[in-house]
Amino acid sequence: MTSTTTNAMEGNTVTDAIGHYIDGALTLGTGERTQQVINPATGRPTAELHLASTADVEAAVASARRAADAWAQSSLTARTRILFRFRELLAENADRLAAVVTAEHGKVLSDARGEISRGQEVVEFACGIVELLKGQYSDQVSTGIDVYSFREPLGVVAGITPFNFPVMVPLWMAPVAIATGNAFILKPSERDPSASLVLAELWQLAGLPAGVFTVLQGDKSAVDALLTHPDVDGISFVGSTPIAKYVHEKATAAGKRVQALGGAKNHAVVLEDADLDLAADHLIAAAFGSAGQRCMAISVTLAVDAIADALIEKLKERATDVVVAEGTRPEADMGPVITKASLERIQRIVSEAEADGAQLVVDGRDLTVPGNEDGYFIGPTIIDRAEQSMSAYAEEIFGPVLVVVRVADIEEAITVINSNPYGNGTAVFTDSGSSARVFQRRVKVGMIGINIPLPVPVAWHSFGGWNDSLFGDLHIYGPDGVRFYTRGKVVTQRWPESQHPSNASFAFPASS
Ligand code: NAD
Repeated sequence: MTSTTTNAMEGNTVTDAIGHYIDGALTLGTGERTQQVINPATGRPTAELHLASTADVEAAVASARRAADAWAQSSLTARTRILFRFRELLAENADRLAAVVTAEHGKVLSDARGEISRGQEVVEFACGIVELLKGQYSDQVSTGIDVYSFREPLGVVAGITPFNFPVMVPLWMAPVAIATGNAFILKPSERDPSASLVLAELWQLAGLPAGVFTVLQGDKSAVDALLTHPDVDGISFVGSTPIAKYVHEKATAAGKRVQALGGAKNHAVVLEDADLDLAADHLIAAAFGSAGQRCMAISVTLAVDAIADALIEKLKERATDVVVAEGTRPEADMGPVITKASLERIQRIVSEAEADGAQLVVDGRDLTVPGNEDGYFIGPTIIDRAEQSMSAYAEEIFGPVLVVVRVADIEEAITVINSNPYGNGTAVFTDSGSSARVFQRRVKVGMIGINIPLPVPVAWHSFGGWNDSLFGDLHIYGPDGVRFYTRGKVVTQRWPESQHPSNASFAFPASS
């Protein structure tokens, strides 16, 4: 791999300068603006990230545009072989990639490996692209006339991704976009940018032509340039709700196809007939795994009154056993949150809930991790008797805080869920098939878990929420991903055995 100034691709140690990957080569670009990348477990800077200038965006899009036309003409077999090689390289490099993720995101290594494995499943799905792009054929729809339809790539598509899954979310997009014949530009989060360059290296080693996969580092200014660039045909976005809404509005106004996945406030309902030990084990893992920084984290438990006290006791016992430490430590269950600002915001929300009369069952605000005193750590926190009016309920906390709201029954639980503006994921814990079925049919939420707290669909089903958790029509990856990155073409054909008489008519053609 040719490299101008950074060797971030050559090992799992983050180097001091992180740039872009444009036209098959690493570059720091022309931009003068930089931003520090910080290890949240130590609070110390590890690298200087070069943010794209307008000229860098132009260079990236021009390279992708050049590559897109040839890539769209490549055979499905050729594309599939590259995807298979990429899948093997991803598996071989999983440990190295996980170390890069942990160093910048802070999540524990096993969690980082987990996100790589879920991303790899999307690559495996995309390896079946020949089957997925089979068109449809209707023989003899009218006498001597056949109609067939198939899908073609959009062209150049960009993916703008959040900090919390620096490998998995780019892999929700890139393999499907590339397999369907598009050139893909990744604009990763500024917080943990290095994993994107490892992915670029693996695509290159897999034999992907220059320009088909691009990495453009940057902030709002790079995003804005992509959203309105005339040579960008589609935008996939994953991030917080206000930015998702903004991205959707701005890019659709510029005539692009857009899917913009936003934030979440996922409720888990625990009914009186649930296995409380099973529910408590899973709620703790779903609330505090990755320090609560997952769009599918359970941040609210709706406990029915009959079992609420018993459930709280079990949650309390388990929360106090969670080991909080730097993500590289083998004993760690949970690492730090992403930034100091995030830490302070979470502490403020917990304090507001306490002041508003909620009960702090477990309070992680004063946690210090020996040896990591400057890291952005907060321990698991459980807030009982929260009200819907409190900021701890109303805001997406995106930290290790589990809010418990007590409800009378399943009816009240469904009402609470359906009055929440988000609709990403929800779960129900119950032993009753009929209660689960009522729940599943009546909640206005995109992804539902039944005795599963983190209902992330597998790659063969698409992922997406409802309401303020998704702007746009199609979910991401899976069958919806194939539809998003392609557009339909319908051919109506006739091969007349004789040209005369031609049957040409000025009247609108009717089938005969
Ligand atoms: P974020 O919205 O701050 O950033 C996401 C991306 O948008 C980044 O690449 C960032 O550079 C860019 N961005 C930020 N501000 C911008 C602006 N003003 N204009 C243009 N671009 C801008 O999100 P985050 O903090 O990185 O990630 C956490 C959020 O993502 C949470 O809200 C979480 O729920 C959400 N998320 C959702 C899903 C999902 O599938 N729905 C998945 C993962 C994360």
